Amino acid sequence: MHGSDFSQHSEISGNEMYRLIEKLYPICRSITGNGVRDSLKAIGELIPIDTHEVKSGTKVFDWTVPKEWNIKDAYIKNGAGEKIIDFKDNNLHVLNYSIPISKKVSNEELKKHLFTLPEHPDWIPYRTSYYNENWGFCMSHNQYATLTDSEYQVVIDSELKDGHLTYGEFYKKGDLEDEILFSCHICHPSLCNDNLSGIALATYLAKFLSNQTTHYSYRFLFIPGTIGSITWLNLNEPKIKHIKGGLVIVCVGDDGQFTYKKSRQGNSEIDRVVLNILENTESSHKVIDFYPYGYDERQYCSPGFNLHVGSLSRTTHGEYPEYHTSADNLSFVKPQNLLESLNKYLLVVDALENNFSYLNMNPKCEPQLGKRGLYGNIGAGDKQPVDTMTLLWVLNLSDGENSLLDISERAGVSFDEVKRAAHALHDSGLLERK
Ligand code: ZN
Repeated sequence: MHGSDFSQHSEISGNEMYRLIEKLYPICRSITGNGVRDSLKAIGELIPIDTHEVKSGTKVFDWTVPKEWNIKDAYIKNGAGEKIIDFKDNNLHVLNYSIPISKKVSNEELKKHLFTLPEHPDWIPYRTSYYNENWGFCMSHNQYATLTDSEYQVVIDSELKDGHLTYGEFYKKGDLEDEILFSCHICHPSLCNDNLSGIALATYLAKFLSNQTTHYSYRFLFIPGTIGSITWLNLNEPKIKHIKGGLVIVCVGDDGQFTYKKSRQGNSEIDRVVLNILENTESSHKVIDFYPYGYDERQYCSPGFNLHVGSLSRTTHGEYPEYHTSADNLSFVKPQNLLESLNKYLLVVDALENNFSYLNMNPKCEPQLGKRGLYGNIGAGDKQPVDTMTLLWVLNLSDGENSLLDISERAGVSFDEVKRAAHALHDSGLLERK
C-alpha cells in the first residue's frame, strides 16, 4: 500500500473559510476573556475542539498567566456630551487590555492616552497593553485632529481580574503517535489577515483531516499569541517528543506572494517539504531564515524545545501597511487567496504523509518499462502523466537510502510527480516500501 492522496480535495471552498472570518470579525478578542471563548465556540461548530481553561496566576516557565480581561463598552464624549469615539463602532478603538475608567479628563491628559497613525490618517491602529496596566483609545488621525474641546468624558467599562486563559485544541489520531503541529493565534480583535485568516485555514484543514486516514497524528492549537504557546508547552511537555514538525499559520488571506520562515534548525523535513512545494508551484516566493521574533514559532523553536516548526504565510507581519490597523479588514482578505493557501497546506500534508523510502525490486540494470506500459508519458484515466525521466530517477535512487523527498530534490522534480512515479512503479510491482 502507498499513502493516501491529500493534494486533491473538492469539499472546501474559499467562501466557507471567508464566512468563518466574517462571523469572527466583530468579536473583541484578547489574550484572555469571553472573546476567545465565543470564537472557540464558533470554531467548535465546525470541528470538535477541546477548550482548556488555565487559571490566572499559574506559573508557566518564566511567565505567569495574566488576569482575565473582559469589556462591555467604551467611549469618549465631547464637551457637548456627544459620543465621538465608540467601541461599538470598532473594537480597535480601545487599547486592548485597558483597565476600567470613568472620568472627565482635560484635552491634554486625553491626548496622552491616544494612539493614531499620522501616515495613514483614515486608519485606526491596533494597540495592546497586556503586561502594563494602562488605559487608552485608538482612533484615526483625522478624528484626532478634530479634538479641540477643553474637556472630555472617557468611559471604559472593562474588567481585569483573576479568571482564566482560554485556548482550543483539536487532535486527530493517526496510525502513529508521531504528530504534526499546526498552531494559530486567536488573540487579535477585528483584524482579518493577522490572524482570522489563519484561524479559518486551521479550522478547515482540521475539518478535512478529521475525515481522512493518516499516518501521522495532527494537533491544532488555537491559542493566544506568546502566552498561549508558552502555557501549552509548559502543560504538555511529555507530548512534545511526538511532534515531528509543524507550522504556524498566519497571514494567509492577502494577495501577496507566499513566504516561508524556516524553523530554527532550517533543514528539517518540514522545511524541505515546504520549500520543495513553493519552488515547484510558485513562480516567485520568499524564504526567510529563522529569527527569534514573529509569532509562536519563537516559543516552539526556543532552545529548550528546538522543534521543527516553521511558518508558511503570504505577506508577513509588518510587511504590509494594513498590518495591525483597521485596514486589515474584510476586504483585505479574499476567498480565492484563502483557498490557494489551504491548498499549499494540503500539499505539505500530502508530502509528509507520502515521504517514504522504497526499494527497487529489479535493481540489476534498468527494468524494461515498455512491457509494463510505463514507458513514455504514462497517465491512465484521470491520472496526470508521469515523465519517464522521473520514473528512472525513482528506480535508480530507490536503494532504501533515499526518501521520495531526497529523490525529488536530487532530480529537480516536484515531490508530487516523484510520488506519482513511485505509486505507478509500486502498482506495477517494481517498488516495495522499505
Ligand atoms: Zn499581530
